Amino acid sequence: MRNGIPVSPGVAVGTAYCIDEIFVNPDTKRLEPGEVQAELARYERARVKTAADLRALTQKVARQVGPHEAAIFASHLAILEDPAFDEKTRAWIAEHHETAQAALHHLLNEYASLFARTKDEYLKLRLNDLRDVVLRISGHLSEVLQPDGKAIAGPLIVVADELLPSHVVALGDRPVMGIVTQAGGQTSHAAILARSRGIPAVSGLRGILKQVKTGDRIVVDGRDGHVVVNPDAEIESAYRKLQREFFLLKDQLAANRDLPAKSADGETVQLLANINNVADVKAAAAMGATGIGLYRTEYLFLTHPSVPDEEEQFQAYREVIAASPGNTVTIRTLDIGGDKTVPYLGHAREANPFMGWRSIRLSFEHPELFATQIRAILRAAAEQEASGRTVRMLFPMVTTFEEMRRLRTMVDRARRQLESRRVRVGSVPVGLMLEVPAAAVSIRSLLPTVDFVSIGSNDLVQYLMAADRDNPKVSHLCQPLAPPVIRVLTDVIAACNAANKPVTLCGEMAGSPRGFLLLFGMGLRSFSMSPAFIPSMKELLCHLTVAKAESIHRRVLSHKAISQVTRYLTEQIKKIAPNLAMLDTA
Ligand code: PEP
Ligand code: MG
Repeated sequence: MRNGIPVSPGVAVGTAYCIDEIFVNPDTKRLEPGEVQAELARYERARVKTAADLRALTQKVARQVGPHEAAIFASHLAILEDPAFDEKTRAWIAEHHETAQAALHHLLNEYASLFARTKDEYLKLRLNDLRDVVLRISGHLSEVLQPDGKAIAGPLIVVADELLPSHVVALGDRPVMGIVTQAGGQTSHAAILARSRGIPAVSGLRGILKQVKTGDRIVVDGRDGHVVVNPDAEIESAYRKLQREFFLLKDQLAANRDLPAKSADGETVQLLANINNVADVKAAAAMGATGIGLYRTEYLFLTHPSVPDEEEQFQAYREVIAASPGNTVTIRTLDIGGDKTVPYLGHAREANPFMGWRSIRLSFEHPELFATQIRAILRAAAEQEASGRTVRMLFPMVTTFEEMRRLRTMVDRARRQLESRRVRVGSVPVGLMLEVPAAAVSIRSLLPTVDFVSIGSNDLVQYLMAADRDNPKVSHLCQPLAPPVIRVLTDVIAACNAANKPVTLCGEMAGSPRGFLLLFGMGLRSFSMSPAFIPSMKELLCHLTVAKAESIHRRVLSHKAISQVTRYLTEQIKKIAPNLAMLDTA
């Protein structure tokens, strides 16, 4: 048994599927001599498609972002068209009878060990370029998950170093029951993806890919972070029982979706959903969300083969808005940087990416790209006004007053541009994401510049505690229930309420029973979370009164240690809604 960080609650038992960097299954069989020609042809088709993608990308990026950024793709094309690259790959197929995917894997390893010995930073960066090219060809090979040529039976537990958006796309509709990653922490994006789909997950298990291979039986316990590889029959059956209980609880809670979002004493609450795409919006509607509190638009960019232009963005946003439950849809502008990078926006390595060139800081330096997104949001919003929906625009990582003023100016300019094109523009409330401690400290002077606030506790916690949200080594510090975090949240919520500015919290703590209970006690009435958690929060609300939550909050304010807060809130949840204890991660 291995212990990691529990990042998405629940229990799953299934067959391991290990995601290698380029999706090579360790058990992939060698080719029979008669299969070599067909494999060479398959590789050639993928290579030609990749070259076409890179040409199109170079042109599109040059047009929409700039020539400097486009040069990255031109250099990738040069790698692809380098005869040595092509010959080596073909040799692995023709001489060693490897599949095209395995051939690329070997090639990458060969270069990696060659480059590992160099001190030349430039060459090291070239390895990243090579990796990008290999991943692109590999994407076109779209190998199915087949050890020994047979499809893996039953539900999959994905085991990866880190779950990337490209993996999620490649996995498509496969029945993924659990996720295990070597890297990451409670609010890393792999964890958020798992939570958004209600899939049990454990992160921070260093070296697990060396201990498990595709086809192994594996148990994931997302409540306390246990992972068991090839369990004996007794352990497997105990976990299967827990898995059944977890499903039963989920089914029971799903029945709550039609309940009003109200506490036991009649206080109305907004239970909004965090979404990445239209599929999530449908899940949000099915789970009884009262609106969309956070649409992370960067996923549109991360999963798009190139740069989505104004029309493509407009179509994507209107589709999301049209499918949304309730009357509020909050669209966040691009939040790239930190652990999410898109190559065409420049991917120079930074020593501290989370404190570096991220979110609006990056968007400001690509003014045309930024303006395009703002226009697409304004257009999609105008179209929806007739249906009575409010579309709100949310800016991530706002740090200073000046930034907020500059953002307002950009929105006004985009509005004028559209008006000069005779495009109808509606009124769109503009809000800031409160995730930087500096903004929390100056919340009272920032409030007059915005129409609403959304607290991004995932980032706020990592910045307040100076503990990287993706680093398992410091996950004991990156805790939303730490007393200093609670003090800051209490103050920010009080400031917004006093100024009558709508405030939502859209970090992961909104969807955990303990976090929700505490925030409700602070006076928060709008929560945004992964759709999977909405039914549970309705359940909690049914048993909760304002007076009870306020008294719990007051008591917590006197606690000095993180463990004291956690223990006390766990006890309270057990008393108030005992069946929800299974849904809080340790
Ligand atoms: C947050 O920081 O709390 C948040 C919701 O944004 P993200 O997780 O996308 O950084
Ligand atoms: Mg954030």
